[in-house]
Order: sequence, then C-alpha cells, then structure tokens
Amino acid sequence: MMRPALFRSIRRAPAWHTARLAASTLLPRNAATVGAARYKSTHIDMITGEPTELLSDIQPGRLVVTKNEHPTPPPPSSTLVFGHTFTDHMLTIPWDTTNGWGEPHIKPYGPLQLEPSSSVLHYAQTLFEGMKAYHTVDGRLLMFRPDMNMKRMNRSAERIALPNFNGEGLLELIKQLVRIDRHWVPKEPGHSLYIRPTLIANQRAIGVTPPNEALLFVILSPVGPYFPKPVTLYATTEFIRAAPGGTGSFKLGVNYAPAVMPQKMVAEKGYSQNLWLHGPEHYLTEVGTMNMFVVFKLEDGTIEVVTPPLDGMILPGVTRDSVLQLLRDHVSGSQTLKGLPQKLKITERPVTMKEVQDASRAGNLVELFGAGTAAVISPVHQIGYQGEDIPIPTGDGGMGDVARTIREQLVGIQWGQIAHPWSVSVDE
Ligand SMILES: *Cc1c(COP(=O)(O)O)cnc(C)c1O
Repeated sequence: MMRPALFRSIRRAPAWHTARLAASTLLPRNAATVGAARYKSTHIDMITGEPTELLSDIQPGRLVVTKNEHPTPPPPSSTLVFGHTFTDHMLTIPWDTTNGWGEPHIKPYGPLQLEPSSSVLHYAQTLFEGMKAYHTVDGRLLMFRPDMNMKRMNRSAERIALPNFNGEGLLELIKQLVRIDRHWVPKEPGHSLYIRPTLIANQRAIGVTPPNEALLFVILSPVGPYFPKPVTLYATTEFIRAAPGGTGSFKLGVNYAPAVMPQKMVAEKGYSQNLWLHGPEHYLTEVGTMNMFVVFKLEDGTIEVVTPPLDGMILPGVTRDSVLQLLRDHVSGSQTLKGLPQKLKITERPVTMKEVQDASRAGNLVELFGAGTAAVISPVHQIGYQGEDIPIPTGDGGMGDVARTIREQLVGIQWGQIAHPWSVSVDE
C-alpha cells in the first residue's frame, strides 16, 4: 500500500508531538493502561515545583442531594427536540487547587453563577462528553460502555490543563443522578436519556493559565429516536476541523464553535453535513460530529470496511470503536453477524476523495456512513465535491448491508435485547 503523506509528515514531527499522537492512538483500544493513579489530583507547589499533599479526588460518598421542590412532569415524548428539554436535577462538583474535588451535589436543574471574569467565558476552557441511558422493554436502565466516556473525559481534561478525576467515582454519581430522574428516561422504542457531563475552568481572572478553580456538572436530556435517513454531505475544501498537533481528537468546546458557520454554509447549499477533509490530498476525516466509515469492493470481490486512523485529528468515538470491534469479532468468527459476508477486510487507514471518486465511477463504492452516539449509524447517499455530486449506494431500506447489520447489532445491545458485556446497569 502507498504510504500516505499524512503519516510521512507525522514521522517528521518533533518527539513530543509523536508521543502524544502515539498515546492517543493506543488509548481507546488499550484503555487499561490508564491506571487509577493518573486520576489523582496532586498539587504542585508553584515555588518549589514539589508535589505537596494529595488533594481529594471525586468521592461519591460525600454526595449531598437537594430535591427539586417544584418538579415538572416530563413532556410527551413525541414533542421532544434533541437537546432542548432537561430533567429536574443536575450534578455539580467543584474543584480548586487548595482542596481538590469538593462535595458532589445533586440539586434542582438551574442556572450556574459565574463571574464575568471566569476563564471559560474568555478562552473556551471547556470540554464535554455525550452518552445515553436506555430503557429496556423489561424495565431495566442501561448505559453503553460508559467507562470509555470517563476515560475520554480525563484525556480531554489533560489536554487543556483541567483537573483529572476518578472516572469510576463520577460514573457512580451519574448513575445516582439518572436514578433520581429515572421517570424522565422515555420508554418509547428508540428513545433515550442523553447524558451531558461538562467540565469548565472557572478561574476568576483574565489570564491564560491552568485554572485554580473548575466546575464539573452533568445535565440530562430526554431525546427521541433518530431515524437513519440517508444524508448528503458537502466535502469542505474551504475550512478544516482539525490539524496535526491540534485538538481534533479531544472532545473540547473549542472544536465546535468554528464548525457552526461552515454548517450553516452547507445547509444553504442544500447539503446536510460537512465532510471534513485534511491536507492537499483531501483525506476524509469525519462527517459533521460523527466518525466515518467507507466500504469498498476490491478487485478480487472482497469487501473492505475502512475508517480513518486515530492520528490525532480523529475523535476516538465509542461508536467507532464498537463498530470496529463488532466487525473484527465477526471476521474472527467469535460473534458472527447475519447479513455480512464472512470474508471482510477491516482497515484503519487514510482514504482520499480521489479514491472515493474513482471507486464511485468504477462501481466499487459500496457504502459510506457516519457513526456516533446521537445517531448511532447515519448512511450517506451523496457527496458534493468540487462541483460534482458523487453518488453513493444505500440499498433498499436506505442503508447498505454493513450499515444496517451493524446498526441492528448496536441498537440491540444498547436497548438490552442482545446481552453483551458492554451494557452497564444504572441500578448496580
Ligand atoms: C462525539 C464525537 C464523535 C462520536 O463519538 P461517540 O463516542 O461515538 O459518540 C465523533 N466525532 C466528533 C467530532 C465528536 O464530537
């Protein structure tokens, strides 16, 4: 295989840069390497540079609950608009350099008090996660691989000098919050409760530094089903989402504000999402806020499923990782998926627009889809690129065989119809 220029340029990068890229590449598949020790918030003495006493980590045992005295009844699920409705309670946990993590507090959902000098308001020192709780038909509440979100949140925090924390502790508190608002988890098929943990720098001073105060909060939003209708993409050559050594592989607020105007632009052109490209080779990277998979038919008839590698510009999605693992389990025979050929080639490698364009012309482009928590799998049926519309097959039901099979498997696990170690009970 041709060595893509992307990798050549990374090889030449300074050592610290290479190390960071390598770590981010390894992390999602080798999560056990992130030991509990990394979550400890230690205090470094500014004068001596010595670590001083170990500060408090997040401690679920210190939780204080203040019940909402004026709870609202959840609205009918049919009226839900994604991310517009919030439950009766939220979780807040303060942090500062003197005490470390303070008392976790579950309290009525409501405004935060921030000073106008708060660093988050000036320099975008904010990061978030997106995960869901699902109501099963037999009345259980499940989460999907929440440990992955806790690890990713800690990686994001490290990247912008916000404090790390004990991920298991935060997960326990999130479960407690969901249990308190459990009647807000919609029971209708395909509905779920979106969970939004956020961490902000809250230093009351205008200066670009690691903050001396931070605030972690978690809010919950009931959401309706996402019908996987085939979408059109605009392969964007005017703007980029991420660059080598930048922050594209972290779930930071700073990555999203610059994408709003390009999103508005593509909507005006009649497309639904940006297809983010990188470099003069026009490597495909991500679709809107989803990871991306493309399926080719090779010369010998083999089906190849490709996703771009975690090279520091790709957000390491939990869905992306799950799609790869399900496909690899299928190929190895350990968990066969009906509807897919036994022989599949699964690759993490760069893909260029030229390759997609050539495959489309030759009839070898089989499918292209996005993958992420909100939509699960989102099939694509057309890409606008340099004045041309590249057609992509989507099959009879609006989804190709790979997209449909993987989606059914993921949805089955998430809503508890398929037992799987990835399911985590909110009640345990
Ligand atoms: C959150 C996100 C994804 C998908 O990640 P999941 O963990 O699968 O939800 C992909 N790309 C971007 C840019 C994201 O912000």
